[in-house]
Amino acid sequence: MRAPNLSWDHCCTPKEEGGLGIKALKIWNKALVGKYIWWLANKKDHLWVRWVNHVYMKGIHCSSYSPPLDCIWTWKKIAHTMVTFKQAYHNDQWLDTDKAYSVFDGYHWLRQKRSKVSWRHVCWNSLNVPKWSFIFWAAQLQRLLTRDRMAHMGFGQETVCFLCNSDDESHMHLFYSCQFSTRKIVDDVISKFWDRKTNVISSRDKAWILSIKG
Ligand SMILES: [Zn+2]
Repeated sequence: MRAPNLSWDHCCTPKEEGGLGIKALKIWNKALVGKYIWWLANKKDHLWVRWVNHVYMKGIHCSSYSPPLDCIWTWKKIAHTMVTFKQAYHNDQWLDTDKAYSVFDGYHWLRQKRSKVSWRHVCWNSLNVPKWSFIFWAAQLQRLLTRDRMAHMGFGQETVCFLCNSDDESHMHLFYSCQFSTRKIVDDVISKFWDRKTNVISSRDKAWILSIKG
């Protein structure tokens, strides 16, 4: 199966927000650099902090510091990240709390947040095998390569459902209205798991299954 056409940023969001929970390494790296900035902001008694203060910062506070033009690129990068983190520090406190900075908190502060998706528990639970979860995830985001999407992307012109030949093959059609696939799903898959998986099927799907089962 080809990978769904979805942005990498979306894949790197947590599963509960509709992503795949992959860590965005660029942001994670920035969050790691945030640890140095935390040390500098709190003047940790650390050899590296003392060296940086002696060579570069010379007593200037993080919030007003800008790096010299002839410094090494690694220090320029750290100083650039300082500007990003400036918004998270007030009076040298991390997000106005008494909590110490953690890379985990820094990562989630830096990343773009999305709202939680209602289908997260149905998709990602211990009763699903990874393949089902992945297909369900792609279907929820309407990223399976259905015929209507393929035609839209310029791969072929045929959009009619291959299974029932009566309507366009879209996500809604395949999973909710195609006479062939819905009967097949009910007869071959869902009916086998109905009793023991009742608790993880959403109320909308329960109603739909009951209506199909008649
Ligand atoms: Zn169909």
